[in-house]
Amino acid sequence: MSEEGKWMFLSDYHIHSSFSYDSRQTVAQIAQAALEKGMEEIAITDHVELAAPKLRGGKAELREAAKEIEQVGACFQGKLIIRKGMELGNANLEPEEAMDWCRKFSGDFIIGSVHNLEPGQDVADYDYSQVDAGMLFHDYLDAVANIAGTLDYDVLGHITYPLKAICEQTGEVLDMRRYRGQFRRIFEAVAGRGKGIEVNTSGLRYRLGRLLPDRELLELYRSCGGVHITVGSDAHRPEDVGEGIVQAVECLCTLGWREITVYQGRQPIPRPILRSTMREASSGTATGSPGDKL
Ligand SMILES: [Zn+2]
Ligand SMILES: [Zn+2]
Repeated sequence: MSEEGKWMFLSDYHIHSSFSYDSRQTVAQIAQAALEKGMEEIAITDHVELAAPKLRGGKAELREAAKEIEQVGACFQGKLIIRKGMELGNANLEPEEAMDWCRKFSGDFIIGSVHNLEPGQDVADYDYSQVDAGMLFHDYLDAVANIAGTLDYDVLGHITYPLKAICEQTGEVLDMRRYRGQFRRIFEAVAGRGKGIEVNTSGLRYRLGRLLPDRELLELYRSCGGVHITVGSDAHRPEDVGEGIVQAVECLCTLGWREITVYQGRQPIPRPILRSTMREASSGTATGSPGDKL
């Protein structure tokens, strides 16, 4: 972690545990890794993947995950807060079922993500030598806009998700300026409903080498009235937990953000990013426990 990281509130709000089809890490392993990376708060966001019957998690998985989160959370009390989340995928394809999931969800936090534009087919798995990436991205944003205005999510997940696979396969990075109108509509819907978006750092670990969404779009989100924002690594293994979080938070700071949002029982709670009180306390200009004022 950078020196600066010690003075920031660090949270990782997108992590998959072994209750997701594509991860094997236990909640205890995640918690340990998060602590080592300086995180103060994390959310376990296992998949509930609609329109993908082979992959989807279900109520049983979420229930088991919740149990494990409570047990591990008790062991890490005072050191790390662990929230119960879910990544609800593909509400664009199964809107009724998605709304039902949101209504019945008893955890803390819901990421609404689009992975598929058609049932059973993740856009990451297309062969981009055969698919018009620019058109696909346009359609993808239409699907995101659809859930942005209708689903009861807390944040929209990785809204530029296809960029990762497109760049991985072709080396091409699509120019986001072409899609500004679509992004503006998404951000206005998000901000108008008091919802949020996430900065997903997984793109930094791929050939793309960028945040999802990147700086220019985060700036646009802010200018559209966007307030709530979370940061998440989308880790599926312990070495990726907390990865890129400092970088994402630093980017938000340079764009004028002073708070990151965390969630408890679906309620957004803004947390100051910079802990000026701790800085003052350590240099002797403040008294008392630095934690008291946060
Ligand atoms: Zn996802
Ligand atoms: Zn994910």
